[in-house]
Amino acid sequence: MLVDIEKVAAITAEVCRRMLALDPARVPIGVSNRHVHLDQADLYTLFGLDAFEVLKPVRQPGEFAAVQRVDVIGPRATFKNVRCMGPCRKASQVELSLTDARALGIQAPVTQSGHLENAAWVEIVGPHGTVRRQAAIAAARHIHMGDRHAAALGLQNQDLVRVAFEGTRGGVLDNFIIRTKPEWVPEIHLDTDEANALGVTSEDFGRIVR
Ligand SMILES: [Zn+2]
Repeated sequence: MLVDIEKVAAITAEVCRRMLALDPARVPIGVSNRHVHLDQADLYTLFGLDAFEVLKPVRQPGEFAAVQRVDVIGPRATFKNVRCMGPCRKASQVELSLTDARALGIQAPVTQSGHLENAAWVEIVGPHGTVRRQAAIAAARHIHMGDRHAAALGLQNQDLVRVAFEGTRGGVLDNFIIRTKPEWVPEIHLDTDEANALGVTSEDFGRIVR
């Protein structure tokens, strides 16, 4: 039997490509710029609306960047036109980098989304009204994924992992919280401080190394 070397090479390359694509430890990065989530009541107060208008979907199914934008006011500065993300949450939440927090003149705790006990107070201003809320946090590093993806890595919701990033400013960061929901797609969420320090963008990947 004659072996077709070119065919073998092509098949080998394809197998390597598929193995990489199926490597569950290699996860796309999503860089989060400062943004605001609103609850139903605050959305109505600020915009006179019962639901956000969709500007464009983001990677996580059902979630989107909204048309609506707000001003966020701290003691030292105001951020104009901060993007709202929909749909509405249980409680309004302002997600900032630590650089943003410093510029606003507030001390935003590094904490998980929804944990607002120690959040900083800010004013949120829309075209129809203003609210003052204990809502500003720096989101703790986290990775979204579905339950099966987590299981394939031997992980479960709330586990902590390390992630390696490639590139000239690459490095390994600790304390990424694994967060699972059946409908989530794998995505490493970094804020702009972290992404800039590592020199990575939403086009790049990180690797879970435990
Ligand atoms: Zn996230």
